[in-house]
Amino acid sequence: MALSNPSGTRQRPGFPAKLESRTESVPAARPAIKVRQLADQRQAIHVVHGVGLDSSAVRQNMVAKLAQQGMSIPAVLQAMGSIERHRFVDTALVNQAYEDTSLPIGLGQTISKPGVVCRMLELLHQGRPGRLGRVLEIGTGCGYQAALLSLLCTEVYSIERLRGLHDKARDNLRHLRLANVHLLFGDGTPGYARGAPYAGIIAAAGGEAVPQAWIDQLAVGGRLVAPVSAGAANAGKQVLLVIDKTPQAVVQTVMEGVYFVPLKSGIA
Ligand code: SAH
Repeated sequence: MALSNPSGTRQRPGFPAKLESRTESVPAARPAIKVRQLADQRQAIHVVHGVGLDSSAVRQNMVAKLAQQGMSIPAVLQAMGSIERHRFVDTALVNQAYEDTSLPIGLGQTISKPGVVCRMLELLHQGRPGRLGRVLEIGTGCGYQAALLSLLCTEVYSIERLRGLHDKARDNLRHLRLANVHLLFGDGTPGYARGAPYAGIIAAAGGEAVPQAWIDQLAVGGRLVAPVSAGAANAGKQVLLVIDKTPQAVVQTVMEGVYFVPLKSGIA
């Protein structure tokens, strides 16, 4: 329950009521002051929204835009509307948290824009109604996508190779108390065999190819979504790859072009 809006939506209707009572208390003979006071009030409310004390309206607006872009899986859209993205970025960037833009999260890494996160989650979820089983995320970053996954999957194993971001994700996720998210510090290139097989694998960093270990750790019936290099002919470009493991074969589907941080080996 705390996930949907820890700050409590019930406070919102109080704002206009307070504005009206203020307006009435201003003497009618001084309309100029009345207007200025109203403007000040509105500014104050805006600041309150800005620091995220009540961000649910602005988040619903983001979800409406995602739906306009063609996102359509209710569980995914609901998760996007529940998790407070502004809690995962630095204070200076809070005002941009619900714009469709990627944002820096430190150590040269970025949190993907909501449209891309939502698209990847929809691809992971597509054709498999209900909660997904165990999912592996490569590249925890600030922990935002792990929080979304926690609402869509039974268990989330999320690996990050940078100690600073692993720690940051732990801090960012603490308030949500997500018992089904397991944050791991390490190189995700070999996957995480102890949690395998996975119903889903999702990578937030792109390499030259999808490591064989990830495909091996995918359950039959499972799906992997990852950015990969678009090949030598398209140097520097990446595409989103969907890999389905069926009882008969491993089926790869190339989706649209994307831009993700590189998948790197080792830890730092
Ligand atoms: N899903 C994240 C996005 C983080 S950006 C979020 O919601 O914030 C991608 C992350 O992948 C970076 O933090 C980067 O350090 C990490 N990464 C890159 N190569 C990796 C690897 N081999 N193993 C684990 N993490 C890796």
